[in-house]
Amino acid sequence: MRKVRVRFAPSPTGALHIGGVRTALYNYLFARHNGGDFILRIEDTDSQRFVPGAEEYIIEALQWCGIKVDEGVGVGGPHAPYRQSERRDIYLKYALQLVESGNAYYAFDSAEDLSKLRADMESRGETFSYDSKSRGTLCNSLTLPAEEVKRRIDAGEQWVIRFKMPENENVEMDDIIRGHITINTSTLDDKVLYKSADALPTYHLANIVDDHLMEISHVIRGEEWLPSLPLHFLLYRAFGWSDSQPLFAHLPLLLKPQGQGKLSKRDGDKFGFPVFPLEWHAPDGEVSMGYRESGYLPGAFVNMLALLGWNPGTEQEIFSMEELCQQFSLDKVSKSGARFSPDKAKWFNAQYMRTASDSFLASLLVPQLASAGIETSLERAADAVAIIKERATFPKDLLDLTLYMFRAPQSYDEKSVAKFWKEENVAYIRDLRGIFAELEVLEKESAEHLVREWIEAGQLPMGKIMNCLRIAIMGIGQGPDIFSICEFIGKQETLRRIDAALDSIQVA
Ligand code: GLU
Repeated sequence: MRKVRVRFAPSPTGALHIGGVRTALYNYLFARHNGGDFILRIEDTDSQRFVPGAEEYIIEALQWCGIKVDEGVGVGGPHAPYRQSERRDIYLKYALQLVESGNAYYAFDSAEDLSKLRADMESRGETFSYDSKSRGTLCNSLTLPAEEVKRRIDAGEQWVIRFKMPENENVEMDDIIRGHITINTSTLDDKVLYKSADALPTYHLANIVDDHLMEISHVIRGEEWLPSLPLHFLLYRAFGWSDSQPLFAHLPLLLKPQGQGKLSKRDGDKFGFPVFPLEWHAPDGEVSMGYRESGYLPGAFVNMLALLGWNPGTEQEIFSMEELCQQFSLDKVSKSGARFSPDKAKWFNAQYMRTASDSFLASLLVPQLASAGIETSLERAADAVAIIKERATFPKDLLDLTLYMFRAPQSYDEKSVAKFWKEENVAYIRDLRGIFAELEVLEKESAEHLVREWIEAGQLPMGKIMNCLRIAIMGIGQGPDIFSICEFIGKQETLRRIDAALDSIQVA
């Protein structure tokens, strides 16, 4: 088999949507799975849509996700440069080659002429298309005498080179995900390939030429590029490159949470979830949420994205990047759109929070505690997160979940008090204080054992006693294992908190 070489080829027109990140991820996984190369090429030939900062954003987003570029912008490689605007000298020759072989032609129609024509036809209920039917009536090298074409070019008149779409031909194509596709060329127009105005190729020409020169073996990209596939097949044929053309795989759309239509930035704004990997500051000042800034761990984000369109064929849902690289294959990518679920995204994050190391979570918690005025060590914070990490969905939850471990409750939850802080229960808490007071050190297991024995011997109401103990220690009636918390705060602090509760809470 030919060496696998895939490319992610975004245009720097704004922030990278999560659909784009998924395209990059699938290319990367495919490359890694097959021992191939993953290339980053920036397709910036449309100067009107260029947005400053977008390229840097793309590179940072890939880095955050752990998608490593083997070759390309920011890395270099044997086919450098990888930014199309820096390759501008390459393309004209190829456009002219197509003119010479009769597969393309010069067109001189001005933008005003074409929009007038379009408007005239629309007023008659028709639609204008620059294609095999209309090209014979327009201003181009197929209708003008050769000397006139030369004269116009020499005089510096603006021109474009258009692809000469064959008439009424069935283009037969294979797509790895979609299977065999047949399109008749009568439905296709003569796309512009090159513009003299800015001496730049359009996407179609630059994309095909670069994929050829960079020896790309597989083109894995979003479904929105499927309509361009016949043109791309025909361009390879026109260049005489069909034998070495890449194989194509068009990925399914990412759908809105409700299931219908493509997931858009507006859905994110409306329902309050990010559609971009990183926060994006648009040049107009608008700021859009990012997964990173919303507290998603990169592993969780990547795991979630990997499963939006690909399924491993098993029940496994949690995958490290390494496992994804091992298991990913294009034949398990579905044809139908993948519905995005903000709840599932949160679920993945919670899974990654609970399996994250205590020391990592501690490094997130320490600054949160500091901003609440509490100084503590990383070791102490690690012991605290170990008790509660199963309850956290986001890093920001850590503070609320651990605050009472570092600071005695400043108030007691009224509802819990009303329900449990009754005279008979409070009497048990006094007894419990006595049991704790006798311990040399308050250690979770032995304390729990002792308390259980006492409760069983006296047939006491376990639930009520534990709820009251929680109120005294944490200020609330529910939470993680209370003995772990007592051990964490230590015997003296446990006794102090019980005393404070007995002193200050009114019996309900
Ligand atoms: N520049 C195109 C984009 O922005 C690349 C499409 C392709 O992969 O061929 O998505």
